[in-house]
Amino acid sequence: KSGFVAVIGRPNVGKSTLVNSLVGQKIAIMSDKPQTTRNRILCVLTLEDAQILFIDTPGIHKPKHRLGEYMVQAAETTLREVDVILFVVDATAEKGPGEQYILERLAKVKTPVILVVNKIDQILKPQVLPIIDQYAQLREFDAVVPISALEKINLDRLVDEVKKHL
Ligand code: GDP
Ligand code: MG
Repeated sequence: KSGFVAVIGRPNVGKSTLVNSLVGQKIAIMSDKPQTTRNRILCVLTLEDAQILFIDTPGIHKPKHRLGEYMVQAAETTLREVDVILFVVDATAEKGPGEQYILERLAKVKTPVILVVNKIDQILKPQVLPIIDQYAQLREFDAVVPISALEKINLDRLVDEVKKHL
């Protein structure tokens, strides 16, 4: 089993931390070179029964100028082509226009989306559900996984959910 996973979310939600925590010592490829014009492979997670390629998705944010529109188109194409999308949000921050914009983009694609609620080490358990409710609109998520990328909480569960779509 193998497949592509796009990790999206606004800056500082913990995308890089997540990918680093998942891959840990098992890094096979870590490249800054563009693999295609639009996708960058961040790294490859090699498991006993699966290989997961994490890709960067530049441009999944509101375009500020014309040059950005090409990026936005490319990002949407990427979102259609991957096997699963990880939409990472920060449990310690309010949902903002950045998240709303991404939700609108996600509503347009049929690719499975896993909502990843990160930084749960910083909040209390009863706070998790209200956070999820903020995002559960415009489209359904295939799974919702609360995690701490930094403290490596619940990452096994996240990988299991990803594997279902490979
Ligand atoms: P990115 O911009 O989405 O790639 O976010 P980064 O991975 O660079 O993380 C942004 C900041 O959030 C850094 O200071 C991380 O250490 C911190 N961070 C990431 N994940 C967690 C987490 O699970 N818990 C806590 N407390 N901080 C986190
Ligand atoms: Mg980053």
